Amino acid sequence: MAKRDYYEVLGVAQNASSEDIKRAFRQLARKYHPDANPGDSQSEERFKELSEAYEVLSDPQKRAQYDQFGHQGPGGGFGQQDFGGFGGFGDIFDMFFGSQGGGGGRPGPERGPDLRQDVTIDFEDVMTGVDKELRVVRDEVCPHCHGNEAEPGTRIETCSHCHGRGQVERIRDSMLGRIRQVEVCSRCRGTGKIATTPCRECRGRGQVRVEKRLTVTIPAGVDDGTRLRVPNEGGAGQRGGPAGDLMVMIHVKPHARIRRQGQDLLIEASIGFAQAALGAELEIEGIGARETIHIPPGTQPGTVFRVPRLGLPRLGSPSVKGDLHVHVTVAVPTSLSSKERELLRQWAELRHESVQTDDRGILKKVKDALGR
Ligand SMILES: [Zn+2]
Ligand SMILES: [Zn+2]
Repeated sequence: MAKRDYYEVLGVAQNASSEDIKRAFRQLARKYHPDANPGDSQSEERFKELSEAYEVLSDPQKRAQYDQFGHQGPGGGFGQQDFGGFGGFGDIFDMFFGSQGGGGGRPGPERGPDLRQDVTIDFEDVMTGVDKELRVVRDEVCPHCHGNEAEPGTRIETCSHCHGRGQVERIRDSMLGRIRQVEVCSRCRGTGKIATTPCRECRGRGQVRVEKRLTVTIPAGVDDGTRLRVPNEGGAGQRGGPAGDLMVMIHVKPHARIRRQGQDLLIEASIGFAQAALGAELEIEGIGARETIHIPPGTQPGTVFRVPRLGLPRLGSPSVKGDLHVHVTVAVPTSLSSKERELLRQWAELRHESVQTDDRGILKKVKDALGR
């Protein structure tokens, strides 16, 4: 079954404020909550759908990713993956009230966030691919404490607040009734441990923000808007989890005289009237290649000549190339010398074409005399 748009699920506009989203969710959650509709599988499905939409749209980072990538990504998509552990009540309650983490169990290793970086390449680079150096600002595991948050050589104690369990229980009265809620311990943030002396490099955070230079190979054949995933170059994970990925959003500068249509290149070539009528050899310049094309006698304006394999390589299989299309226009001269005018007149006479008599020159002289 196709997934519905999250905004549609909550019945809000794309530009809805976080308050609007919260309000919409609150209303719908009341209506479809399984406790209010026992045994109704449709309500349950609807409630799950709502919860998933709310989970994404209530988180500014996830919402931005959803706006940009839709259901599909990044990181393999929202929903199933993020929401696989949906256990009903505690989870949805937690996420609604914004307490940390899920309802059950001590939080395990958590994958780091995906980061996005934009890069702009020249049109010509699409032909060959190009290496680009990126500056990425991201969190990395602190090299001083290796992420355990304590100054090396100092003691790490069991958290007294949660007795090392990493979570605490709480009873709450809510709009949906009385809820027994398990929360991540706020003191140790779920680790069950407290550093007596926080690491001085990361101030006990376990991560440090660094700017890193990375060289990324942009393959041949990319298009404007192609996203490139560079594994493990995103932000550091939590509690020993893997790093996220770096999503490189590629922008391609347009070319001054060549347009692109998929893998094919389109150029315009302007030829003279005599060339079109009599035929000519025409040298054209593609991307990194020159080619002579034969213009046969009697070529009409708008004729397209196709030069095979002078187009762009296919992303992933660069030996497969598109074509170059040469769109021929015939230029009509806008100013003529008296000799050219005379010859064209003779030509028109031979063709029995009636043309304007030669009073343009006189008209111009009159205009000149009047100073206009
Ligand atoms: Zn540290
Ligand atoms: Zn604790």
